[in-house]
Amino acid sequence: MVDDFKIDPWGSTSIIDEDYTRLIREFGIEEVTDSLRVKMEKNRFIRRKIIFGHRDLGLIFKAIEKGQPWAVMSGIKPSGPFHLGTSTTALEIVEFQKMGGKAYYGIADIESWEDNGIPWEEAEETAVDNLADILALGLDPSPEKAYIWRQSKEPHVKDICFKISRLVTQNMLNAIYGERTFGLYISSLIQVGDIILPQVIEGPQPTLVPVGIDQDPHLRLTRDLTRRNYKNFFLPGATYHYLLAGIDGSEKMAKRNPNSYFTFNESLDSIERKVKGALTGGRKNLKEQKELGGEPQKCMIYKMLMYHFEEDDEKLAKDFEMCVKGELMCGDHKRECVEKVLRFIKAHKEKKEKLIDKARTLLKIE
Ligand code: SF4
Repeated sequence: MVDDFKIDPWGSTSIIDEDYTRLIREFGIEEVTDSLRVKMEKNRFIRRKIIFGHRDLGLIFKAIEKGQPWAVMSGIKPSGPFHLGTSTTALEIVEFQKMGGKAYYGIADIESWEDNGIPWEEAEETAVDNLADILALGLDPSPEKAYIWRQSKEPHVKDICFKISRLVTQNMLNAIYGERTFGLYISSLIQVGDIILPQVIEGPQPTLVPVGIDQDPHLRLTRDLTRRNYKNFFLPGATYHYLLAGIDGSEKMAKRNPNSYFTFNESLDSIERKVKGALTGGRKNLKEQKELGGEPQKCMIYKMLMYHFEEDDEKLAKDFEMCVKGELMCGDHKRECVEKVLRFIKAHKEKKEKLIDKARTLLKIE
C-alpha cells in the first residue's frame, strides 16, 4: 500500500531495487528519458545513468537554453567528514554549477543537532572541514555563482520555516515521515526553508535539488508547501541518484560498519585496505572469470570508479565490456582502482588543506 511505504531520510532505511521502482511509480518521479539525457549530457551523473529520475529537470534544461537564471541547491549535515556517499551530492552540485546554475549550499547544523545531538558550536569545525572538501572538489564560491549558509545563522531559512508551519499538521508529517521527534519534524521544515531560499533571495526561478532517493520525502513536502504558500514560485525540482551501497558488499554505508565506506580524511593505508577489501562482481576463480565473465553491475570497484574516480567514459565502457567478456581480471582491476583512489585522495587532501581558511571565512567562523 502507498500509505505504508515510507523512506526514512535520516538514514535507517536501506533502499532496495524494488523501492526505486515503487518511488517512481507511486510518487510521481519521472525517469530520465534518453532524449533528456542527451540534452543534459554535460553532467556526468546524468550521462552515466547514476541519476535515474527527476522532477522538473526539463525546466532546468529550458532555462539553460534560454539563458535564464536557475539555481541548484544542496547541503550537508555537519556530523562527520566527507565520505563516498556525501561526496556524490557535492560533486553533483559542482557539475550543475558548471552548467550555469547558481549554487546554494546549506550547512544543515540544525539537523545535525536534531538528528545526531551535535551542538552547533561543535558542528562548526566539521562544517569548515566539509566546506573545504566541496571547494576542493571544484565549487566556485564567488558571490555571483554561489550562496553558502548555516541553517542556524540564516534568518531567511528560519522565516520560511515559521511561515509555512501554519500549513503543517502533525498528521501530514506523520504520513510522510512516520512518527518522529518534533525536532526532526522541525528540521524537515527548516529543510523546506533551505530549498525555497534561492527563490526568496533571487525571485522565482527553476531550482534543482540533486539528492539521493532517500531524501525524496523532503522534496514532496517542499513542493506541497511551495504550491500552497508561494504561488508564484516554481515548484522545486530534483534529480535522484542511486545510492552507493557499502563497498564491502553490505546493504548500505554505515558508521557502525567502518569497512562499508571510507572518509576523505582517512589515512591512505586505511583507504587502501578498504578498497582492496571491496566486493567485486568477479567469479570464484580465474578459469570461471574467463569462461563466464564478471558482473560489473554488482561490483563495488566498478561503481566507485563510475561515481568518482574514473574521468574517462570510454575507459569505463571498455572495462565494462571486457569484464563481461571475461577479458578483465578482478585482481588487475582492483589494483588499478586502488591507484586511482589513492591518487585522487592525496591530491584532494593537498588542495583542501589550502582551502580551510577560505571555508572559515565563507562561514564566518573565527
Ligand atoms: S573485473 Fe573489475 S568490474 Fe569486473 S567484477 Fe572484477 S573488479 Fe569488478
